[in-house]
Amino acid sequence: MFDIIIIGAGPSGLSVAIEAQKNGLNYVVIEKGSIVNSIQNFPAEMSFFSTPELLEIGGLPFTSAHMRPVRAEGLEYYTRVADFYKLQCSYFEPVTSITKNADYFLVQTTKSTYETKTVVLATGYYDNPNYLKIPGESLPKVSHYYNEPYSFYQQHVLVVGAKNSAAIAALELYRHGSLVTLVHRGDSLSDKIKYWIKPDIENRIREGAIKAFFNTTVLEIKEGTVVLHNANNNYLELKNDFVFALTGYHPDYDFIRSCGIEIAGTDLSPHQNSETLETNVAGLYVAGSVIAGKNNNSIFIENGRLHGKIIIDSIKRKIKSS
Ligand code: FAD
Repeated sequence: MFDIIIIGAGPSGLSVAIEAQKNGLNYVVIEKGSIVNSIQNFPAEMSFFSTPELLEIGGLPFTSAHMRPVRAEGLEYYTRVADFYKLQCSYFEPVTSITKNADYFLVQTTKSTYETKTVVLATGYYDNPNYLKIPGESLPKVSHYYNEPYSFYQQHVLVVGAKNSAAIAALELYRHGSLVTLVHRGDSLSDKIKYWIKPDIENRIREGAIKAFFNTTVLEIKEGTVVLHNANNNYLELKNDFVFALTGYHPDYDFIRSCGIEIAGTDLSPHQNSETLETNVAGLYVAGSVIAGKNNNSIFIENGRLHGKIIIDSIKRKIKSS
């Protein structure tokens, strides 16, 4: 019987594990992939938006030669933190269900069944893209994740979206020889694009280096073209080799609901007590970006890393009073 099972070895799950360990609680982190699996799947050459100290967990310094560390440095850092604290983690073990049985939980994975007094769900959102739900979206030339530009040299690439990920991908692809078109259903680029990226994408669009269509949706993706439709009811069919649909991600609502957690409000956030992060299921907590539901830009590493202490304080109070 564990005191805590933490699901997800992202920065938030690891920060919960560190607090559990510091407080002598019996825990294990169960991760479906490898350590900080989401960051492993970020674009290869990405830089974090945050400065290093805002990405630190467990009080260990994150040093970098850059004002904004790169992905590889983040991977090195979180791996070293897990090593330093000798965190108890089981990798490549997806959790398939969580059920409450009287006063404890059964956590079912692809490999085993665990019994635990409490559970922390720190599963993030990056595994679940917001699909366009249009014909052709499942063609092999369509991806909801951008990695690096080199294979797309001299190819006609459509980038769908208007936030940071879409802007960064469009710029990188353009600078590595792709013929880039950006399409967005809104009337302009997002205000949330970081201030050091926005002028670059705006200027490339203004000078025509990157073509952009606003107030426009993608109606269909075909083998060699894409069909666009704009607010003036015009249709346009463009030559196309590859599509990056970078329209965001969302937590796994079905899994969250299957644990008995209520999902409410327009932001679809899991029900939680803001003081303790305990959900409507007593003993089941949420940590990190899974908390924010649709608004996953509001919880990121900078603030999700603080959830560990809040949750472990609450679990300690429970254990003391039982
Ligand atoms: P995640 O890091 O997503 O971790 C969740 C983990 O749970 C994953 O490892 C996943 O494999 C695992 N998991 C999911 N389901 C299961 C299951 N059923 N069983 C077992 N394991 C499971 N934030 C910042 O603060 N600063 C930045 O500079 C920054 N830059 C970013 C750049 C990009 C390109 C992107 C996409 C995001 C960036 N973010 C940044 C946001 C940040 O990366 C996320 O908010 C952060 O990863 C959230 O951490 P987390 O631990 O809550 O979730």
